[in-house]
Amino acid sequence: MSETIIGVDLGTTNSCGAVVRDNGEVALIPYRGGEFTVPSVFAIDDKGQELVGYEAQRQWQLNPKRTVYGAKRLMGISYGSELVREMQKRITYDIAAGDAGDVEIVLQGKRLKAVEVSARILAKIKEVASAHLNVPVTKAVVTVPAYFNDRQRQAVHLAGKAAGLEVVSIINEPTAAALAYGAKKSVNETVAVYDLGGGTFDISVIHIRDRVFEVRATGGDVFLGGIDFDTAVVQYILGDFKAQHGLDLTGDPIAMQRIRDMAERVKIDLSMRQEAPLSIPFITIAKSGQPLDLNMIIRRDELETLVSHLVDRTFDTCAKVIEDAGLTADQIDQVLLVGGQTRMPLIQDRIAKFFGKPPSKGVHPDEAVAIGAALFAWSLKAESNLKVRLLDVLPMAIAIETANGTLHHLFERNCAVPNQRQFTFTTHRDNQKDLVMRICQGDKPSAQENTHLGEFTFAGIRPGPAGAVKVEVVFDVSSEGILSLNAKDLDTGAQMRQTVKLGT
Ligand code: AMP
Repeated sequence: MSETIIGVDLGTTNSCGAVVRDNGEVALIPYRGGEFTVPSVFAIDDKGQELVGYEAQRQWQLNPKRTVYGAKRLMGISYGSELVREMQKRITYDIAAGDAGDVEIVLQGKRLKAVEVSARILAKIKEVASAHLNVPVTKAVVTVPAYFNDRQRQAVHLAGKAAGLEVVSIINEPTAAALAYGAKKSVNETVAVYDLGGGTFDISVIHIRDRVFEVRATGGDVFLGGIDFDTAVVQYILGDFKAQHGLDLTGDPIAMQRIRDMAERVKIDLSMRQEAPLSIPFITIAKSGQPLDLNMIIRRDELETLVSHLVDRTFDTCAKVIEDAGLTADQIDQVLLVGGQTRMPLIQDRIAKFFGKPPSKGVHPDEAVAIGAALFAWSLKAESNLKVRLLDVLPMAIAIETANGTLHHLFERNCAVPNQRQFTFTTHRDNQKDLVMRICQGDKPSAQENTHLGEFTFAGIRPGPAGAVKVEVVFDVSSEGILSLNAKDLDTGAQMRQTVKLGT
């Protein structure tokens, strides 16, 4: 029997591990206390001890500056990006630019790269899996959001390495959910994976036939998730309190934290019932010196009104992605739900209206991604009787930046991966020694608005007059969505030496 490979859903909010046992049964890996998911939270407590998962999450309110959540979103991105500016509005810990222009998390004067924080979470899953399976686990298939770019995917490999876990393959979260649904049965269906988690929304259209999973189109919104639903409730609570007491609580960080926690709890409660009470004692002190409590009741229909514009946005994206796939909503056979926020009844009702059918009960929103990763891991093993093929797409175009800042596209958005393009470049100076290429990824028209992936330099070009030497460059995107480049002298066949200055 070859070595165990676990499947890992490295989530923004929660992470989860799963494995296929020797008898072919797939199972989630339980944590102490019987939970199957572990919060993707890391902290350093006042004694300097590192905490991961539930221990870290439990002390968050008392230690917000040294408790890190959402680190996955900060991996492989540059400090100057819009995503970081948005994240800064949402986090309570400090971040700073690293030497490479990446994001570092500042904890008690100590600096950790976002990748290192994700590595701590992966290490926790590895530890729990090893203890549970009674074998040292060193290999994993890890899932990432479909919209992750090349840099973010490379960061997952680095995080795995730092955790002592070889990432044998990276697969996309929606593809994993589709695997959980269709790997073990013979289906010929087109499914839509509607994934609304804590921080992001994603929709993918995937055709499944004879265990071939072909992604037709994918899209999403990196700034739309459960946390925005919470914010809408927080605003409502603040408005109500101000109307009652004339006091604005926005400047009081402790009160705001308590309100935010309570808003999420009420939102979750309202998925089960029609109204939920909300009570926070001693939220502030009135001008008279009297302590004030916050007491309200929020009804489900009120919540639905507060968040309807957010829900609308998810369906705008659905319409676009279904059109990209060349389909109409009624041609989708099944809608799979992923992500905790899809438990909201309004979301399920709106899905039923939009697609003309209720969402599938075939997969569990919190577990499908890890299960799919474990099934894929199992399919990689020689002794496995499960053989699947994944045909994925590139979530964003990859382009060369030209000298004037415009782009020359190499790979278009939604093109199939793996993929390859070849271009021949001619020297434009006498005795030109190297060829430098700046590559970026994104769907915006100018280089500055997209993610800079790196500056690739090919050195050792044969001396000759301008125009005399032709260099052939091959651009490869792997099935994981990771780019690599190779160049050779077209006349002599000599390979060029490559160095890369990674994008920041
Ligand atoms: P995930 O990233 O998939 O773990 O999803 C986390 C998000 O789902 C958070 O914003 C939670 O508040 C939200 N969530 C979890 N359970 C529920 C529920 N029963 N109803 C509504 N939202 C939920």
